[in-house]
Amino acid sequence: MTLVDSEIESFNKTCQKKEVKEFNDFLNSIRPYLDRLHKSWSEIDKGITTESLKELNCSLNDMIKIVLDFYSNLDKDLYNTLINILNDEKTKKDYQEVSPNNKWRINYTKYEPDGTLCIGLRPQNNLYGLASVCHEFAHLLSRFGQDSTNSKSDLFPEVESMFLEKVFIEYLYNINFITEEERKTYFRFYKSSVNDKLQEIFYENDILNYLNGNSLTNENLKVLEEMIAKSPKAKDFYRRLSFMQNDVHSAWYFIYVLGEVISELLFEEYRKEPQKTVAKFKEYLGHTADIDPQTMLKDLTNKSLEEAIETYLEINKE
Ligand SMILES: [Zn+2]
Repeated sequence: MTLVDSEIESFNKTCQKKEVKEFNDFLNSIRPYLDRLHKSWSEIDKGITTESLKELNCSLNDMIKIVLDFYSNLDKDLYNTLINILNDEKTKKDYQEVSPNNKWRINYTKYEPDGTLCIGLRPQNNLYGLASVCHEFAHLLSRFGQDSTNSKSDLFPEVESMFLEKVFIEYLYNINFITEEERKTYFRFYKSSVNDKLQEIFYENDILNYLNGNSLTNENLKVLEEMIAKSPKAKDFYRRLSFMQNDVHSAWYFIYVLGEVISELLFEEYRKEPQKTVAKFKEYLGHTADIDPQTMLKDLTNKSLEEAIETYLEINKE
C-alpha cells in the first residue's frame, strides 16, 4: 500500500486531533474489558447471517401496526406521545415499502436544518426490519421536544432505542409472533452486528497505538504494512487505515458497543421489574441536556463501566 503525501498529511491531521488522542487513551484503559466482550460476541457470531433471521410477509403498514400495538401495550403515555408525533403534520415521513433489497439500517430519525423532525423507514422483510421500525419510533420519542441546538448526545437516544428494541422482541415472543429459537437468533444477529463495530474500533486502536503519538511517514507505513499483513483480516485493516485519512470513527462505533451493554442491563432489570424499569426509563427520556457516558451508566445501572461490562458478560454466559 502506498499513500501520496497529501493522504499522509490528512491522515496525520485526523489522528493528531486532541479528542482522537483522548478517546484512544480511554480505549486503552478499558481494552481488556473490550477484548472480553469481543471474545464473548465472537463465540455467538459463528455462522449467523441475515438469512438466519425470520422472514416476514408484511407490508410497511403491517409493520407499523405491530409496532404501535407494542407501544400501546407497553405504556399509554409513550403510545400517545408517539401517535401525536406521527400525526403531527410537521413530522416528515420518508417511507419506502418493505423490500428484501432495502439495505440494513438506512432507516433514520433526524432534525433537518430548518428544524423539521424527519423519520425515514425502509425496512427489510424480516425480523430485523420490523425491529428497526420499533427502533426509529423510539428515536422519535427520544428526539421529540428537543431542537437541533439542544439535542441529546448520540449515546443517549441510542441506548433508549436499543432498550426498547429488546423489550419489543420480548413482546413478540410473549404474543407468540416469534418462537424462542427465532428470538435467540435475533439476539445473536444483533450482537454480531455490534461486534463488527467493535472490530472496527480495534483496528483504529491498534493503528493509533502502533504510531504511539508519532506521525505516519512512508517509512513507518512500511513497517505498519508488515504488521498488517500478518493479521488474518489484513484487507479490513487496510480499509480502516485508508478511512482514517478522513475521520476516526471509534467514538461513534463505541456508542453502539456501550449502548448494547447499558440496554442489556436495563433489559435484565425490566424482566424482573417491568413497571419500575419503564417508569425509570420514561423519566430518563425527559433529559434533554448532554450527559457523559459514565454518568449515564451510573444513573441507569448504578455501575462503573468495568462493573457494567462484567455484569453484561455474566448475564450472557451460558
Ligand atoms: Zn439508532
